Amino acid sequence: MSVFVTGATGYIAQHVVKELLAQGYKVIGSVRSEAKGEYLSKLINSPQFSFAVVPDIAAEGAFDHVLQEHESIGTFIHTASPVDFEVSDIQTGLLDPAIEGTKNVLLAVEKYGKNVRNVIVTSSTSAVRDVSGKRPSNSLLTESSWNEISIEQGLKNPRLGYAAAKTFAEKEVWKFAKENQDKFNVTTVNPTYVFGPQAFKVQNKDRLNDSAEYVNKILKLKPDEKIPTFVGLFIDVRDVARAHVAAIKNPKEFNGQRLVLINSAWTNELLAAIINKQFPEVAIPKGSIGASDEELKKADLKWDNSKTKQLLGFEFIPIEKSVTDAVQQLLDS
Ligand code: NAP
Repeated sequence: MSVFVTGATGYIAQHVVKELLAQGYKVIGSVRSEAKGEYLSKLINSPQFSFAVVPDIAAEGAFDHVLQEHESIGTFIHTASPVDFEVSDIQTGLLDPAIEGTKNVLLAVEKYGKNVRNVIVTSSTSAVRDVSGKRPSNSLLTESSWNEISIEQGLKNPRLGYAAAKTFAEKEVWKFAKENQDKFNVTTVNPTYVFGPQAFKVQNKDRLNDSAEYVNKILKLKPDEKIPTFVGLFIDVRDVARAHVAAIKNPKEFNGQRLVLINSAWTNELLAAIINKQFPEVAIPKGSIGASDEELKKADLKWDNSKTKQLLGFEFIPIEKSVTDAVQQLLDS
């Protein structure tokens, strides 16, 4: 049986593919064009990897031909979704590809997924953390928390648009799971900000994908520049990949679970301090653990993902290693 991964060119998906191949799975990845598929195949360089072209995930029936042509697909991993906070049209740039794209995946699986047993969808903590204003911003995040944002709120700006897109796309997944209880094992993977190295070569070090770029932005600061204030949560990309694969290995245990992937909190001050400690030759602003601690205290972020950790049963990679590996790769490329 093979594993199908949508959006295989993506930062997270490339790690998922790499992890699957390392564990002996045969992988088919979807890409938006033949040229992207050829490029990715060269990068991955494995006879166990092949690609299928799906130009637009939001188009009706987008994935039907893939499942009709590949009866060997036993697991469907859906990661493709726009992560773009500069879109001019929130509906067509964020909401449609996320929500309609997910519906297209689920409909194709239902109709043509003859041998599909496991469905794993990359959601986000954006579907977990409420930004609708209905709950305080420091509310405890757990596997049962939901963002209560409306589509209307999502149309206000791209950040809210992304949150609404991920929330409503995930709602479709759980609706499908409920309607197909005996047919499929369904799991969502809900990561927070994802850092860590690229799975293969860095394609363009001037602009990485949105989350990896947070570390890259600090690396690009001049020593006298101010470190922008920012507080977020963190998980390493290799842990995100392992979580997707764990759900295939124990599908019954992971069926119905939302894996909330959060390891620790971070600030830009902390990223700068780590880079300074590990790479003293790199000229960037100093960064301070003290200032970072102050910012974290103010933000008062709370989460409890012990259920996820217990299910996964492995230790998450700490932020210091994640940032060090990412920066080392950027300096070497
Ligand atoms: P990424 O590197 O930007 O990858 C996004 C992938 O989706 C790419 O393969 C992209 O194709 C594809 N895609 C985007 N819009 C599409 C469309 N309209 N039609 C077809 N394909 C489309 O992002 P990522 O960080 O790896 O994110 C992957 C998944 O993880 C997403 O579902 C995202 O919401 C979720 N996630 C990410 C983070 C994070 O911090 N990175 C955190 C939580 C959740 P092209 O390469 O052709 O553009």
